[in-house]
Amino acid sequence: MNFEDRVREFLSQHNVAPEAATGEQLMQALTSALRQMQFDAPKTQGKRKLYYFSAEFLVGRLLRANLINLGLVDRAEALLQGWGTTLAEVEDCEPEPSLGNGGLGRLAACFMDSIASLGLPGDGVGLNYHYGLFRQDLSQGYQLEEPNPWIERESWLCSTPFTFDVPFAFGNLRAKLFDIEVPGYKNGVVNRLHLFDVENPAPAPEHGISFNKNDIEHCLTSFLYPDDSDEAGRLLRVYQEYFMVCAGAQLILHEMDEAGHPLDQLDKFVAVHINDTHPSMVIPELIRQLVARGVSVDRAVEIVENTCAYTNHTILAEALETWPIDFISRVAPQLVPIIQDLDRRARLRTQNEKLAILDKNNVVHMAHMDVHFCCKVNGVAALHTKILEESEMHGFYQLYPDKFNNKTNGITFRRWLMGCNPDLANLITQTIGDSWIKDASQLERLLDHVNDENLLNALDAIKTSNKKRLAAWLEKKEGVQIDTNAVFDVQIKRLHQYKRQQMNALYAIWKYLDIKNGHIPSRPLVMFFAAKAAPAYILAKDIIHVLLCLSKLIANDPAVSPWLKIVVIENYNVTVAEHLIPAANISEQISLASKEASGTGNMKMMANGALTLGTQDGANVEIVNLVGKENAYEFGRTSEEVIKLYATNGYHPTDFWKGSDIERLIDFIVSPEMLAIGQSESLTRVYKDLLSHDWFMTLLDIEDYIKTKEQCLADFEDRHAWIKKTLINIAHAGFFSSDRTIAEYNRDIWHLV
Ligand SMILES: *Cc1c(COP(=O)(O)O)cnc(C)c1O
Repeated sequence: MNFEDRVREFLSQHNVAPEAATGEQLMQALTSALRQMQFDAPKTQGKRKLYYFSAEFLVGRLLRANLINLGLVDRAEALLQGWGTTLAEVEDCEPEPSLGNGGLGRLAACFMDSIASLGLPGDGVGLNYHYGLFRQDLSQGYQLEEPNPWIERESWLCSTPFTFDVPFAFGNLRAKLFDIEVPGYKNGVVNRLHLFDVENPAPAPEHGISFNKNDIEHCLTSFLYPDDSDEAGRLLRVYQEYFMVCAGAQLILHEMDEAGHPLDQLDKFVAVHINDTHPSMVIPELIRQLVARGVSVDRAVEIVENTCAYTNHTILAEALETWPIDFISRVAPQLVPIIQDLDRRARLRTQNEKLAILDKNNVVHMAHMDVHFCCKVNGVAALHTKILEESEMHGFYQLYPDKFNNKTNGITFRRWLMGCNPDLANLITQTIGDSWIKDASQLERLLDHVNDENLLNALDAIKTSNKKRLAAWLEKKEGVQIDTNAVFDVQIKRLHQYKRQQMNALYAIWKYLDIKNGHIPSRPLVMFFAAKAAPAYILAKDIIHVLLCLSKLIANDPAVSPWLKIVVIENYNVTVAEHLIPAANISEQISLASKEASGTGNMKMMANGALTLGTQDGANVEIVNLVGKENAYEFGRTSEEVIKLYATNGYHPTDFWKGSDIERLIDFIVSPEMLAIGQSESLTRVYKDLLSHDWFMTLLDIEDYIKTKEQCLADFEDRHAWIKKTLINIAHAGFFSSDRTIAEYNRDIWHLV
């Protein structure tokens, strides 16, 4: 049965006339039709099969993405048009899956798309969270967290007959397997995202996101990264991690059996990828299961090391997981002797106590276990890998130089260009043909057209129309009105001090005061923010409060509001990103150098014709190398300087604000105007932190930042030169396709085909 007939059949089974169907019903009909069609597709084949383990997969809405990959967008549009609606309207009824939160989860989702699109055999393995991280509510002027349910409505989850018993200390808990199908781009291939769930999940908490963290049986898959400020929360995270890897390892061995492969040759047929440290227990768990099935311990350790590879995502010390061995013995005691044995084996390889798996306090260092017992370890951008090798993991690098390698992150252009910016995708295809869709490096052929006035004008017109589209969406969603003639300046990412939204807030204060002093800019500026703060991260929530207060203060000041606007969009997720990114003029990538491992928001915005205003951090370095310094706005101290400042305790915020212009910007946070709008306690915390602590060195770069941003805004007025720069950025964005990243993973690590 073809696609259209399946959609019609679903509607008639539900007794709905297509013309009378609601958006919700049409969304369900399309979802169901696509799900059935993919179910019939053949699975990928290869020498080895990859299992990509990740605590999160931030997949985003899937209706349009799946239609694109199956080549059905035009047919869906035609079908819906006949019934008086559009794909955009129907798509708005799709809830975004709450299976991830930030860059790491989004990377895993882009990777799933690229693995399938390259025709590689590789499935994802994760957990089926019911309420996500949280849904962010900003209506009160600060962040409130609510559950973010998504499964209740029609979803992409396919129930499977598979269950696996996970042996916890308290008894067995059954893991039920759900799948989300992952079709490749127009190649007939379908891989799977395997998501494990408990059999009887708990209903959502009535208010807020607190729940009984001891009720493992029902709450294990309720939330992503449950609050770990108490012991029950930390134990719950260990429960989640073990549940995922134990069930995942059973699935792997089951598929080995089905294929008739001998288990002592696991490494020949399977590659396991550990995305950040959350799935690290898959190493001892696979060893445990292999030994239980008759493989010798020595052989099990050897083949598991050959099978597993690990990606490091951060050098922030507080983000590197460690668990007291006592926690593991309370959750999954069967792993304890195996981890102790791995520690003993690691100590035969090095006597350096700092590289041990189990430290003298009996704490397990998950990343250390990964490096010792994975065949490869990679960073996610050239600078990040260099910092791992030369400082953060230098001891490990000396021990295992051949394990270390770089895999600069990427994004799927199917979603982040064709999906969210179809007009730009069409313009590119009209200009250079469509080969870039399967080989993004072809985008460089746009460089032959940098002096084509018609193309530059068309590019400009598309950006303007995307800005209008964004403004209309925001007006409908939040009731705000935006001048589309303004420069759209965009900082959207998790809220963290290292990402320095607070520095951008200080810029806003500077600009506000500058305008009040009579310096009317040549064009209005709209500063967009969207960011979730971790629920227990007080200062991050305070920074959101500062932004909301500034937004209100400026909006209420008629002398400034025509020229400056701050828009804080609540509940940042993939859908919000897809609306904002095509409309961005300036891409804010202002993390403290050395702290952002890669970033992928920077790549999405570059590909959509925004210019990067950024530090020499993460993949920004590679972006600027590709486009040239004249086509980006770089500022701030280098990672070497920053690393040295940390090493020598050489940074004191006082040195920067005492007696300088910066002081009045910081003072403004607790000015009477601000205190009249906001909460004194919250504003004061931000104020005090900047003056006395400022761990992520906001004041180190603020002056250079303001200067560079002003230059960037001035350059925007030379429209012709600006648009040409955006074209050069788009032309060089091809390197950041996740197809390139995945081809490298396959070539250097997985060897799947
Ligand atoms: C791309 C993306 C991120 C990562 O953004 P960075 O700027 O790289 O931190 C986070 N969240 C969502 C929803 C994204 O789409």
